[in-house]
Amino acid sequence: MFTYCPACGSGNIVFKDNRVFKCPDCGFTYYHNTAAATGCVIDTGDRVLLLVRGKEPSKGKLALPGGFVDPGEGALEGLRRELLEEIGWEPPEGAEITLFASFPNIYPYKNIVYNTCDLFFTLDAPGLSEKDLRPAEGEVSGIRFLRPREINGEDLAFDSTRRAMEAYSRYRESKTFLSPL
Ligand SMILES: [Zn+2]
Repeated sequence: MFTYCPACGSGNIVFKDNRVFKCPDCGFTYYHNTAAATGCVIDTGDRVLLLVRGKEPSKGKLALPGGFVDPGEGALEGLRRELLEEIGWEPPEGAEITLFASFPNIYPYKNIVYNTCDLFFTLDAPGLSEKDLRPAEGEVSGIRFLRPREINGEDLAFDSTRRAMEAYSRYRESKTFLSPL
């Protein structure tokens, strides 16, 4: 990510442990920390909502609504904001939003690789349909309502989403938090 130290211009800067840049000449230190991100399984009863991604990475593949948590946000605030931005829909006040799994993900964007800690939530939205939604132009190129067992892992954009959808099927049976290693 850095070829030269952004503080002193030295070419001796090193990237260690997949997370820290250190300059031996001036002491500049930058931690490229894991970022928090959310994903949401919106369950209409027998189907769940998936987005067709309108941009890279994984343009054209399916993903759950959600995204990076912004500075100053809690995970649920970030999730509500992302739902509004991506599908133009907000969970009703008092909706029960449950954390059911968490997995790591790798998100390459414009030549920088971000390591994320993805938090997967679910909420019930019986009767929700495409006419209730306003997908973000450019970012989202389609909405799909699919039965969980109809979802083909290869069509999903991210490894963490594949793991989350597997966990979700088990979560629906057990209703307890699952994060298998
Ligand atoms: Zn330096």
